[in-house]
Amino acid sequence: MIFKIVGTGLISISAITALVACGNNEEEAVVSEENPIQVVATIAQIGEPLEEIGGDLVEVETVMGPGVDPHVYEPSQSDIQLLQNADVIFYNGLHLEAQMSDVFNNIDVNAIAVGESISTGDLLEDEEEAGMDDPHIWFDVRLWQQALDTAVEQLKEMAPNQADLLEENKQAYFEELEELYTYSTETFSKIPSEQRILVTAHDAFQYFGQMNDIEVIGLQGLSTEAEVGISDIQSTIETIVDKEVSAVFIESSVNDSSIQAVIEGAAGSGLEVELGGTLYSDAMGDEGTEEGTYIGMYRYNVDTIYHALTDSEEDTQ
Ligand SMILES: [Zn+2]
Repeated sequence: MIFKIVGTGLISISAITALVACGNNEEEAVVSEENPIQVVATIAQIGEPLEEIGGDLVEVETVMGPGVDPHVYEPSQSDIQLLQNADVIFYNGLHLEAQMSDVFNNIDVNAIAVGESISTGDLLEDEEEAGMDDPHIWFDVRLWQQALDTAVEQLKEMAPNQADLLEENKQAYFEELEELYTYSTETFSKIPSEQRILVTAHDAFQYFGQMNDIEVIGLQGLSTEAEVGISDIQSTIETIVDKEVSAVFIESSVNDSSIQAVIEGAAGSGLEVELGGTLYSDAMGDEGTEEGTYIGMYRYNVDTIYHALTDSEEDTQ
């Protein structure tokens, strides 16, 4: 499976080269505020930062909105139209947008998997399926910088006259990301290590756990495509009872029934587990809200987890 993904990546890179060369011959209109680059992103974790960095030089459309699960999302006819009219498409890759790979392969537009530009040594492996990489890289702020950098480099290539401005905007945004990194890691370092356990609906938080030194337990595997088994729920209940976990979390883009089953199961074993709140995992919040931005979404998750794990700790004293 993984070889197939790498192969797709290579094809799209050669396609880009061909298109760039062809674009030069046709003397494409110079990119400006009046003639912005038409960018389509699959997920808002890519689209919103590029909007921030690109400013008036880009017009960004995002295919998947709040609450949408990218693992199972199938593009509509109007999505395909949108993708076809783009100057460039940025997607996560690493099998996140599993139902969209056919479209990317058959479309005559540069489609770049920003997640696949990260060196394989930095990627985490799927614990359940050997050979598969974990696609949820936006939860490691520094890895996500690398992915966004790939996209910005592409924009600079498409708008050489605006490269300095794009670079300047990128540096300013990356400084904010560094502040986010510090905020997040410092917040979690205040929680005693044995309390730093994050139980969620699916395994989206491995990079988050690695960056913030939190143990992560996901009920479902990396993808939400498979059903949650009774044994997954049972083993999670045993783990949280054993570790006396005080709060578990649901996700905005994943059905919460399995997490509710865990809470009930733990109660049956005599452990009161709180619902710590709803986290943004694979989808962000509503556009125009704090949680509709990458940085705001991340901070919201940090604050929600921190408060749930520390408040519950106080309750038990
Ligand atoms: Zn996911």
